[in-house]
Amino acid sequence: MTSAPEEHLRLEGIGVSFGAVNVIPALDLSVRKGEMVAFLGPSGCGKTTTLRIIAGLNKPSRGRIMVGGRDITRLPIHDRDMGMVFQSYALFPHMNVTRNVAFGLQMRNIPSRDAESRAAQALDMVQLGHLAHRKPKELSGGQQQRVALARALVIEPSILLLDEPLSNLDAKLRDEMRVQIRALQQQSGITAVFVTHDQVEALSMCDRVVVMRGGRVEQFGTPTEVYERPATAFVANFVGRTNRLKGAITAEGTLTAAGHQLRSATTLPPGAVEILVRPHRIRIDDAAETANRVKGAVSGITFIGDLVQYAVRVGDAEVVVEEATRRDRSALAVGDTVTLGWSAEDTLVYPAGEQ
Ligand code: ATP
Repeated sequence: MTSAPEEHLRLEGIGVSFGAVNVIPALDLSVRKGEMVAFLGPSGCGKTTTLRIIAGLNKPSRGRIMVGGRDITRLPIHDRDMGMVFQSYALFPHMNVTRNVAFGLQMRNIPSRDAESRAAQALDMVQLGHLAHRKPKELSGGQQQRVALARALVIEPSILLLDEPLSNLDAKLRDEMRVQIRALQQQSGITAVFVTHDQVEALSMCDRVVVMRGGRVEQFGTPTEVYERPATAFVANFVGRTNRLKGAITAEGTLTAAGHQLRSATTLPPGAVEILVRPHRIRIDDAAETANRVKGAVSGITFIGDLVQYAVRVGDAEVVVEEATRRDRSALAVGDTVTLGWSAEDTLVYPAGEQ
């Protein structure tokens, strides 16, 4: 029998009000030891506020923060044993790289020789040992970011908190750093909480994702769960691209949209619904039998290298279909009539007016 994963961090009814504004009503969350969890959501949904509360930079108006079963709600920042990496890196400009990294250790009264050797190890971990004597301004954005990471890791915190640490990097560096941060987190087995509004970051780096909206948790699940089985239309829209069709479920339980009868794996009571289908789950003129088959007219074609996007008018709706570029695909043109096919499992149905 395998034992249940050990809980490391728990938020119990955490609430935050700024004056009369209730930004986070009551948040409950449990993070396991050694897992990396992303807070994902649109601007202003409360991601950073929640992270700052875990760090001790903000005080919650209500609720408790538990770490390893211990209530740390009132513990000052420096007693929380947490490392933090910010979007801005926040390095000290007048100190060289080693001293920046060793600073936190010296604050903890570690003798400077020990502090420097531990800083050197941390810099090796992020592959920056050769730049130890440089000042921050003599480093690239990605290198500064790695110094910030080494500085957070060197104190061997029990929890690592990252607030949009990659958002100042260019696309290529961001890809590299995603892989590096994830590898470091897995090697060290540290529990990490990551704030981002970038779904690719959340899905690719984390064990589980908390999708937030208006200070509430919309869904907490693995990347596959939030992508394949979004709990709400909001999650489906926020995580990955999707088509949205207005539809209805009749009194007999039949699902209809854009003048067609459709099949879905979801059962809902009669009424207005919203139907969501991912663009890459729809096949054009495919011989395979699929639960849903609708005819439409191609209204636009966009070539984006490895992908082609087709806009297809179906009744009064426009459906976007995404297909990997294929040499064997007979050329489609705007105005062509096509048959779109997709499965019942890929037909996500939600009550209308949910968002
Ligand atoms: P972003 O992705 O833009 O950083 P976020 O999800 O991290 O957004 P928060 O920074 O946590 O959002 O802010 C949540 C809400 O709380 C926002 O509406 C914000 O305006 C509000 N807020 C944050 N800090 C304060 C404050 N000190 N005083 C008043 N309101 C605040």
